[in-house]
Amino acid sequence: MASFDSILFDFDGVLADTEPVHCACWAEVLATVGVTLTWEFYSRQCVGIDDRDMLRMMATQSDPPRPWDDLWKLYPAKKRLFMARMTTKPPFDPALAGFLEGLHGRYKMAVVSSSSCTEIEPMLVAGRLRPYFETIVGAESVKRYKPAPDPYLLAAARLGSRAPLVVEDSEAGIASGRAAGFAVLAVKSPAEVPALVGQRLAL
Ligand SMILES: [Mg+2]
Repeated sequence: MASFDSILFDFDGVLADTEPVHCACWAEVLATVGVTLTWEFYSRQCVGIDDRDMLRMMATQSDPPRPWDDLWKLYPAKKRLFMARMTTKPPFDPALAGFLEGLHGRYKMAVVSSSSCTEIEPMLVAGRLRPYFETIVGAESVKRYKPAPDPYLLAAARLGSRAPLVVEDSEAGIASGRAAGFAVLAVKSPAEVPALVGQRLAL
């Protein structure tokens, strides 16, 4: 059994059930410029990729195609909407805090996300989870996003970790962890994280 010295958690879809909320907020602001975003499209094409890449794709596919930065201009409005929803009701599983408490001190832990640190940090604080993580690697921390290995390599370097376990839900995120050369545990939802991570660590 591999012995790990850190756990690197993706955020959206792993620690927090945020994807439906991200999608609803983007759909609301994109509708103001006549672009339709459905959950069907978002869940298939947009989960795990950077917001800029998502908007580039939507700009090309919109009818007629438009410059992607027309859509990027909506980012501040989307972010305000998202933060208002997230900090009033942080989307964390009730079992998560106890689970992290049990790992704290035994493993170094980090959050590694394609979302912005300025989005993630207030949510962790609102959910009283921030003290469990030594660092947060977000969109502004790296030049190349998942599926490139950079976010996970940076997190491991910050923690001084040689054998991290990466916990991921998206294809891009799993590819990123593997490209970094780390063990990857794939999960389908935040609810199954405590049991699956516990199993993998043989706790
Ligand atoms: Mg994810």
